[in-house]
Amino acid sequence: MRVTVDGVPVDLPEGATLLSAVRAAGLDVPTLCHDDRLTPVGSCRACLVRVDGRLAAACVTPAAEGTHVRVEQDDLRELRRDAVEVIVSALPPYALEGDGELARLCQELAIEPEAAEGGAGRGRDDSHPFVRLDRDLCIACGRCVRMCAEVQGTFALTLVGRGSETMVAPGTGGPWGESDCVACGGCVDTCPTGALTEPGLPVGTHLATFTRTRTTCGYCGVGCALDVLVRDDEVAAVRPAKDGQVNRGHACVKGRFAHGYLRSPERLTQPLLRRRSGLEPVSWAEALDHVARRLRDAVAEAGPDAVAAISSARATNEENYLIQKFMRVVVGTNNVDNCSRLCHSPSAAGLTAAFGLSGGTDPFDDVERADCLLVVGANPIEAHPVIGARLLQRVLHGTRLIVADPRSVGLAEHADVHLRPRPGTNVALFNGLAHILSAEGMVDDEFLRHRATGLPELTATLEDYTPDRVAAITGVPATDLVAAARLYGRAERPAIVYGLGVTEHRHGTDGVRTLANLAILRGAVGTDRGYGVNPLRGQNNVQGASDMGALPDLLPGYGKVRDPVARGRAEQVWGTRLPEHDGLRIPQMFAAARSGHLRVLWIVGEDVATTDPDANRVIEALDACPLVISQELFLSETARRADVVLPAASWLEKDGTFVNFDRRFQRVRPALAPPGQARTDFAIVHALAEACGADLGCATPAAALAECGRVAPVFAGISHERLDREGAVPWPCSDPGRPGQARLYQDRFATADGLAHLAARPYLPPGESADDDYPLILITGRRWAHYNSGNMTRRSGAVELDPVDRLDVHPADAARLAVRDGAPVVVESRHGQVVLPACITEEVSQGQLFCAFHFPASRVNALTSSHADTVTSCPEYKVTAVRLRVRPEAQE
Ligand code: SF4
Repeated sequence: MRVTVDGVPVDLPEGATLLSAVRAAGLDVPTLCHDDRLTPVGSCRACLVRVDGRLAAACVTPAAEGTHVRVEQDDLRELRRDAVEVIVSALPPYALEGDGELARLCQELAIEPEAAEGGAGRGRDDSHPFVRLDRDLCIACGRCVRMCAEVQGTFALTLVGRGSETMVAPGTGGPWGESDCVACGGCVDTCPTGALTEPGLPVGTHLATFTRTRTTCGYCGVGCALDVLVRDDEVAAVRPAKDGQVNRGHACVKGRFAHGYLRSPERLTQPLLRRRSGLEPVSWAEALDHVARRLRDAVAEAGPDAVAAISSARATNEENYLIQKFMRVVVGTNNVDNCSRLCHSPSAAGLTAAFGLSGGTDPFDDVERADCLLVVGANPIEAHPVIGARLLQRVLHGTRLIVADPRSVGLAEHADVHLRPRPGTNVALFNGLAHILSAEGMVDDEFLRHRATGLPELTATLEDYTPDRVAAITGVPATDLVAAARLYGRAERPAIVYGLGVTEHRHGTDGVRTLANLAILRGAVGTDRGYGVNPLRGQNNVQGASDMGALPDLLPGYGKVRDPVARGRAEQVWGTRLPEHDGLRIPQMFAAARSGHLRVLWIVGEDVATTDPDANRVIEALDACPLVISQELFLSETARRADVVLPAASWLEKDGTFVNFDRRFQRVRPALAPPGQARTDFAIVHALAEACGADLGCATPAAALAECGRVAPVFAGISHERLDREGAVPWPCSDPGRPGQARLYQDRFATADGLAHLAARPYLPPGESADDDYPLILITGRRWAHYNSGNMTRRSGAVELDPVDRLDVHPADAARLAVRDGAPVVVESRHGQVVLPACITEEVSQGQLFCAFHFPASRVNALTSSHADTVTSCPEYKVTAVRLRVRPEAQE
C-alpha cells in the first residue's frame, strides 16, 4: 500500500496506521497514550494529522491506499501542542521535572513548566514494594492498563472515576500491594508521566545521568536482555531492553526488581576459613594456599578422583568452561557436574537420543507461531514469566492450548483441555496420546517413512495404552485424553513446551522420549509443520553449563570423554592427556563423600544443602567430606558447612555469556564491581590454578570462549565480539560468517543415521507412591516472586510479596485432616519431617500437596527422596509420598 506524507511517498504493509506512515516518511508526531506494543486508543489527541482534508489521530487511523497525509502544517503543530498543554495543565508542577517521557515531550514542544498548574491532591499508593502510584500524575492514558492486559496478561489494573477524575487503580479495588499485580514493571516502564514509578526513582529523576549497562538476566533461563542503571556504585534501576530478542521490552519481578541483594550487608566480602572457633576471615592468599595444599594432598594420597566439583548454572559459560578445564587438566579427573543433573539432564539425554542434540528443537519465535501448544509439566506464568506472558497472549488470540500438569495454575485456566495426570504417570499419558494419534490416523506417514525410525516397536508398545487403560493409570478421563490428542493431532503447526514436571521423575528420560514421540509421529519436528519439542530451562545458564562440558561424561560441545576423537581434540587444545573414564554425578559425589572416598568437594554457586533432594543425606555428605569449598554470594546453608568459603561476584558484576533456553548465546556485562574482596568465579578459578602452580590460559572471558570454540566446533562461530555486534547467536554455529541454527534438523537429524528416533518405552511406576502410611503425594516447584533457594530474592523486596514457604492442600484433604488455612502442619515423608503453614487451595488435586523450597529454614528437601531418573540420576522431586498432621499446638 502506498500513501504520501507531506508529499513523500511511502510504502506500508496492510493494516499499518498513519503513525507508521508518518514515521516511515522520517517525520514524527507527539504521542502520550501510545506505546508501539499496545493497542492504540487515540485518546490524547497529541498525534493529530490531516488526512485528505480532515483531522485524524494518527495512532488509531488506518492508512489507506492513495491517502495524502499532512503533518508539518502550522495549525496542526499548534493543535498537537494544545492537546499536550491541556493534559499538562491538570498536573502538578513537578510533573515536568526530570527526563521522563512527558518532560522530554514538553521540552520538544516548548511547553514551559509553568503550564503545569494542577494537583488535585488525589494522593499516593505506596503499598507495593516495587510499584509506586502518584494519582495526581495520572492522565488516564490507559497505557499501564493495556500493558498489564496485552503484554503481561495479568489484567490487574483498570481505570476508575469519571471525566477529569479518571485514573488508574488495581482491579481488586484495594491498595496496590494487595492487588493481583505480579510486579513485572510493565506499567512503570510505559507510564509517560511518572504516575507509576519504582522506589528510589521518583518523578524528576534524571535517568540519563546514570551509567547504563546492557546485560542478560541472571535469574531464569529465558534470558531477558536488561539495561542496568547504576548511580553511586549502586543499581538504581533495571529496565527490560526494548530491543531484547527474547523479552522485547518486558521482564518479570525478579530480573526487573530483585536486585536489592547486591548491597545486602550479608554479602560475603572476604574469604573465610574454618578454624576451631568456626569460619574466620582470612586473606585470599591464605585461603587459596590452603585449598591448593589440601588439593595436592588429596590427589597424592587418594588420586585425582578423590576430588570433585559442582560447577554452577548461575555462572557464565566462560566460568563453567574454566572450572571443567581446571578439574580435567589441573586435577586430572572428570568429577565435574552441574545442576542440570537435578533438572534437565533427562532433556539432554532424551533429546539427544531422539534427535541428536541436547537442546530444544526450535526458536521460541517459531513456537509462538504455533496454532496448538502442548504445555507439559511447566508453569511458565510463574517460573518463566516473560515466556508465560508471550504464550498467554497467543492463547488469548486464538492459539489452542493443551496443558498437562497435575496442578491447576498459570496457563491451565486458559486451556482448551487440561490434563491432570497423577504425578509419576507421564509416560503412560504420552503413550496414551500417541496411541490415539496412531489409532485415528493423525500421523505423518511420509515423515515416518523417510525421516524416523522405531515405528514398529513403538506401535507394538502402544497397543497396551488404550484410553481406558491410560485413564486408569493416570486418572485423566479418557474423553479428555482423546480431546487433547485430537487437538494436537489435527493442528497445522503444533508445538510442545515442557518443564521439570516431565524431567524430575524416576523415568524422566523416558518421559522426554515418549513426549518427543508425539512430535515425531506428527512430523512436527525438523519440518515447517510444527515446532518440535522445547524444554524451558530453569536456571539462567543451565544450558550453557552443560554446553561448556561441566559434566562428568561429556566435554565442551557434548563430545564423550570416552570417545578418543573428542578427547583427542580437547587434549590437543589443552596440551595434556585427559582421564578416559566418566566422572561422578552429583548424587554419586555425595555418596562418595559419605563413604569416605571423596576428600575434596568444591561447590560453585549452589546451595546443595537447601536445593538437593534428601537434604539430611546431603548434609551428612558435606559433614563427612574432609574439605568442602563453597564459592558463594552469601553464607548459604551449604557455605555454613564448608571448610573454605570464597566470596563470589553476582551476575551483575561479571563479564561473559549465558546460553538461554532456546540455545542463544548472549552477553553478560558487569554493571558494577563486586563488593569488598569478592571476585568473579572466573578470577577465582584462575587464582586457584595459579596457587596450584598451573596456568589455565584464557586470560579473559572472551579468550575462554574462543578457546572453547576450538575444543567444540559447534561453538566456533560465536565470539564476544560477534555477540556485541549481533546481540544473540544460537548454537550450533561453527562459522563466524554464518548465522547459528535456531531451527534444527531441517534437512536431517543429528543422530548417527540422520533419523528421528521413536522410543518404545513402557510405563513404569514412580519411586514412591501413596500408601496407607504415606497417603499423600508432595510435588515441589517454584513460586513467582522467588528463585530457587531464594538466596537472592529473599534479600530483595520480593520477600514482602511472598514471605514464607507454604504447603498447598486441597480443601477436601484439609477438611478430612482438620487443617485450617494458615495453620502449621507437620509433613512427614520416609526421609524427613518439616513444619509448614497450610494454604488451602483447589490448585492442587485431592491427595496431592505442593510446596516450593525458597526458604532454607523450611527444609522442604528434607522430605524429598533419593529416587532418581534411571538414566541420568535426575532426582524425583515431583513425587514424594508424605503424610500430614496438624501440629498439636495448632489444634488448641
Ligand atoms: Fe529474568 Fe527470567 Fe524474569 Fe526474564 S523472565 S526477567 S530472564 S527471571
